[in-house]
Amino acid sequence: MDHFLYRDGALFAEDIAVAEIAAAVETPFYLYSTATLLRHYRLFDEALDGLPHLVCYAMKANSNQAILRTLAEAGAGMDVVSGGEYARAKAAGVSAERIVFSGVGKTLAEIRMALAGGIRQFNVESEPELEAISAVAVSMGVVAPITLRVNPDVDARTHAKIATGKSENKFGIPIARAREVYAQAASLPGLKVVGIDVHIGSQLTQLEPFEAAYKKVADLTDVLRADGHEITRLDLGGGLGIPYTRSNEAPPLPTDYGALIKRTVGHLGCEIEIEPGRLIAGNAGILVSRVIYVKSGEGRDFLILDAAMNDLIRPAMYDAYHDIVPVVEAAAAVELRPYDVVGPVCESGDTFAKGRQMPPVVAGDLLAFRSAGAYGAVMASEYNTRPLIPEVLVHGDQFAVIRARPTFDEIINRDTIPPWL
Ligand SMILES: *Cc1c(COP(=O)(O)O)cnc(C)c1O
Repeated sequence: MDHFLYRDGALFAEDIAVAEIAAAVETPFYLYSTATLLRHYRLFDEALDGLPHLVCYAMKANSNQAILRTLAEAGAGMDVVSGGEYARAKAAGVSAERIVFSGVGKTLAEIRMALAGGIRQFNVESEPELEAISAVAVSMGVVAPITLRVNPDVDARTHAKIATGKSENKFGIPIARAREVYAQAASLPGLKVVGIDVHIGSQLTQLEPFEAAYKKVADLTDVLRADGHEITRLDLGGGLGIPYTRSNEAPPLPTDYGALIKRTVGHLGCEIEIEPGRLIAGNAGILVSRVIYVKSGEGRDFLILDAAMNDLIRPAMYDAYHDIVPVVEAAAAVELRPYDVVGPVCESGDTFAKGRQMPPVVAGDLLAFRSAGAYGAVMASEYNTRPLIPEVLVHGDQFAVIRARPTFDEIINRDTIPPWL
């Protein structure tokens, strides 16, 4: 459920008309709902009620400072995957004990940064990374808390580009080798083993792959404890999917996911961490765009928008589907017609939808892409020197620009001319 609903035929974000914000901000822009963000965070928090737990929002989904602050004030921790994200989490006021550091390629500088500023744990993905973290920790006179990310060889049944839990993926250590690598971790002077980490992919629409992975983690917990390791935390990753369209069957709810966690690992006496990203931010955001031209082509009409693939790459990169709805609701009786919805960028990949059935659209109309709050703004670029589009946050009947559109001069002045020119 989200807070982007029609009232008397006008699309609202919480208590403000989207058209009113469009008049103030100019399209295209991302628009987020505080109430939806908080609702999704709390669904996870409540789903784990009764177990000691921490919901570490995977901030790569949407890392705007205002989004992070909103979630941190509600009690969320953060899952970071780079030094930049670590700095963002700290800047948003997240305390070090609530930040976990994931990712296959942590650099020495990033490890040093996190150890200096404090970290709840590193989720380690390889033996060379174990060695690196231990060496940095020893050089700084500290001990680094770590989990090892195990790769359970489970098929997440999601898009190949976002599946991470099969043996052929680059992520984690094969679960079959876990005992050996945990023994190595325990022998290194700069490390303290605190638990196990797993994350099998994103946009999962079924619970079975989670169940298979978490059962393997439960078995591994017993085995590692018998080997003498102190396993007090289980980081179960993120990945629960969201409905990108209202017509299809909806993915499982956080409550069902929470019940599954309790059933599979609840008896182990561990503190549970989860790292949801998409489900918290995805349906808490829309992308608002204006139709520049309606162009008649061979056997089809194109809607040419002022938003493009550089603003929202998901359709081009993952063949992702986004609902595209008019900001002024069409009459119920109106006949739908097929449109190819495209942006102005000079690539055929700049296509948001083909043959999409929509109410008749004319130039100047405002359209909203639903489910654009996660992996939207964070993946944007300035290709074609199209400025990064603004981000706007709604809170009840208030709204604020939380990242302004840069001017052309700001963009140009990031470049420097070398002295010989
Ligand atoms: C991307 C990622 C997540 C978040 O995945 P969602 O599908 O957005 O919930 C969590 N943990 C790790 C390690 C990730 O790489």
